[in-house]
Order: sequence, then C-alpha cells, then structure tokens
Amino acid sequence: MFILESAAQLEKAIIKAKKTRTQVKFISFGTYAVKGTKGNFYTVECKRGEHGEKIVSCDCKAGQSVKPLVCFHAASALALHVGLARQRQTA
Ligand SMILES: [Zn+2]
Repeated sequence: MFILESAAQLEKAIIKAKKTRTQVKFISFGTYAVKGTKGNFYTVECKRGEHGEKIVSCDCKAGQSVKPLVCFHAASALALHVGLARQRQTA
C-alpha cells in the first residue's frame, strides 16, 4: 500500500503500464483486477483516506514490500480509476 502524493511517483510505472498494455478488469468503483506479466491477476484498490489522501494498494510482491513501489498494476488501475472518477464528478 502506498499513498499517492504526486504524479512523478507514477512516471516509471506509467511508462511500463503503457508498454505492457495489460488488461484491467473493473470489479467495483475503486477495485480493479489487473493482469500481471505471468497471466495472473492482481487486485488493486484505489481509495481515499481520512484526510483525503489517495491510497493505492496492490497485492503483488512489489506492492507488499516494506517500501512499496508503485507497480505497473497500480498505474494501470489508476488510469482507469481517474477516468471513472472524473466521469462521476461531471455526471
Ligand atoms: Zn502490483
């Protein structure tokens, strides 16, 4: 789990996500299943914390480490999540 503070944090993960063009499945608003490089699916959750912070968690190895990295699963799910959140606001 990590707290998203700036877009710069995501830069590398976004580049990888674009290269990988992985599959993102919508489960519910804020919860997505993202296909990993081995064909398995990881669950990514995007939610808001108590103070409005953006909390993102992924159940892959990188997302579980002590100092979690922004993995490309999280970046892929976020790309979809941000789009959906925007639609909701304008709807
Ligand atoms: Zn991940």
